[in-house]
Amino acid sequence: GGRSLEETLERLVADVPDFPEPGVGFKDITPLLADHAGFTQVVEALAAPARDTEGAVTVTKVLGMESRGFILGAPAAMQLGVGFVPVRKAGKLPRETHAVSYSLEYGEATLEIHTDAIAPGERVLVIDDVLATGGTAAATIELVERCGGVVVGVSVLLELGFLDPRSKLPGTPVHSLLVS
Ligand code: AMP
Repeated sequence: GGRSLEETLERLVADVPDFPEPGVGFKDITPLLADHAGFTQVVEALAAPARDTEGAVTVTKVLGMESRGFILGAPAAMQLGVGFVPVRKAGKLPRETHAVSYSLEYGEATLEIHTDAIAPGERVLVIDDVLATGGTAAATIELVERCGGVVVGVSVLLELGFLDPRSKLPGTPVHSLLVS
């Protein structure tokens, strides 16, 4: 029983044209977050790549990027029984960090991770809401690698396939619940 994942996403993720600027189609997940059944179903699906065929957990951390990656990643980590690591925008983390800068359409962005957030050899599942150009995910993978960890997969609700984000993530398995 129950609704299909694709139906849940189509029903509960709102398409907002021309936000935050003309030409951008913004994917708004707030209706999904407000729906207990839908939110639960989606978090389980995002966490699934961190399990083997027997259901055993194969990662030691879930990582989420500021800020919607926190909302989706933290409950996934709880469900898998592993810790959660936040990657934040520059200047937010209070202790020693690794930082990676990457280019946006206009200008640059910098992401940071605490240097001790991931121990060498840890296996990490990265979770975010939308995979667009892939720049954010690529920078995040670099941060995990600077810590000595390994990204075993990137799990997202929606992949904007027309932006070809996978070309920025060679060698990393990408799990998208819906590709548009
Ligand atoms: P990118 O680095 O281009 O892959 O962009 C991914 C990041 O920007 C994610 O953290 C998303 O939350 C956000 N993002 C990019 N494009 C969109 C969009 N069309 N709708 C919602 N969020 C987006």
